Amino acid sequence: MRLSLRYCAIALLFAPAASVAQQVQLQDIRLWASPDSTRVVLDLSAPASYSLFSLGSPERIVIDLERTAVAPGSVSAPAGTGLVSAVRLGERDGGGLRVVLDVGAKVKPSSFLTPPNEAYGHRLVVDLAPEQAPKAVKAVPTDGQRDIVIAIDAGHGGEDPGAIGRDGTREKTVVLAVAKKLAARINAEPGMRAVLTRDGDYFVPFRERIRRAREQQADLFISIHADAFVNRSVRGSSVYVLSTRRASSEAARILADRENAADLIGGVSLDDKTDVLASVLLDLSQNASISASREAAARVLAELDGVGQLKKSEVQHASLIVLTSPDVPSMLVETAYISNPDEEKRLRDPAHQTRLASAIHAGVRRYFYDNPPPGTRVAMLAARERAGDKVATGASVAATVGGT
Ligand SMILES: [Zn+2]
Repeated sequence: MRLSLRYCAIALLFAPAASVAQQVQLQDIRLWASPDSTRVVLDLSAPASYSLFSLGSPERIVIDLERTAVAPGSVSAPAGTGLVSAVRLGERDGGGLRVVLDVGAKVKPSSFLTPPNEAYGHRLVVDLAPEQAPKAVKAVPTDGQRDIVIAIDAGHGGEDPGAIGRDGTREKTVVLAVAKKLAARINAEPGMRAVLTRDGDYFVPFRERIRRAREQQADLFISIHADAFVNRSVRGSSVYVLSTRRASSEAARILADRENAADLIGGVSLDDKTDVLASVLLDLSQNASISASREAAARVLAELDGVGQLKKSEVQHASLIVLTSPDVPSMLVETAYISNPDEEKRLRDPAHQTRLASAIHAGVRRYFYDNPPPGTRVAMLAARERAGDKVATGASVAATVGGT
């Protein structure tokens, strides 16, 4: 599926040349700012031939679209955000359209055309990154009391809405809400710290999500999603860990296709290395990391059992790119089926989002208290908890003896 989509994208690049003089309409311009990049999306009625270049003093990015006009009903240039201070539109002689992005400083642009998906039609996507990305050097305290770091990954985001429920609920929105609530609980836990791979409505490619988790030296990576299926009666939570072999079930295969396909939108669609890299990472994955993933996932699944119905009472295995970090135990939680009207309603309910976050937190806490990484504050707290249990057991034995 990913391959065929990739060919689609390449075929579309050549389409405008073939369809001579076909007028393309610019229907909308959308901007998404993430902490370290800005994405500009031009919604088009059809793929357009375009050229993109940078101009200096003042710094700006120019996109020239051939045989393109603003759609009737007027598209207004959106206000600037992130790295873009202003957007300007102008007609060009010979029937073209020029889009100028004013940028405060030198930026590195990249662009690609992408075909329609569930939510949008043809798009030209322009990503802008600062020319010199600030490299934050992470200082990890090594005084034997380090925090356990949990990377929480809200799936999708930006112009990738993920699955959409019958009432229009978007996966990207509900999973971010659950992720933020989970992060708050983890941060309130002594000896644990949460990092979010995204904290707003913007897209982050899979590999970037993994890179952020590894940069923070995460002890666990949890990707949060909501499932969808054509049959709207299907419901329940599931938890997935990486499979080193083929996906263990048909459902897992479909999920893998869908979640992996989401990354095409992220702009790595023409990167043929993706598959190779994924398989190399798979080869590198340590069995220890996978068995840790499985153990942590089992505890999360057990806690989710108390919140709602489980789709499968066992941890599932799937070949998901987002789970291919070789050294960070990783799991993917499908909180519920957004395609099921009941579950869609629950997913939107803040009280239910809180219950989901609390269940995942409880599972994670249980896992790390059972398997504390050496040198962490939790290792010390867990030892104290066990000692406390022994004292408590001793006391109750004494009381029983005393009673006879
Ligand atoms: Zn998803």
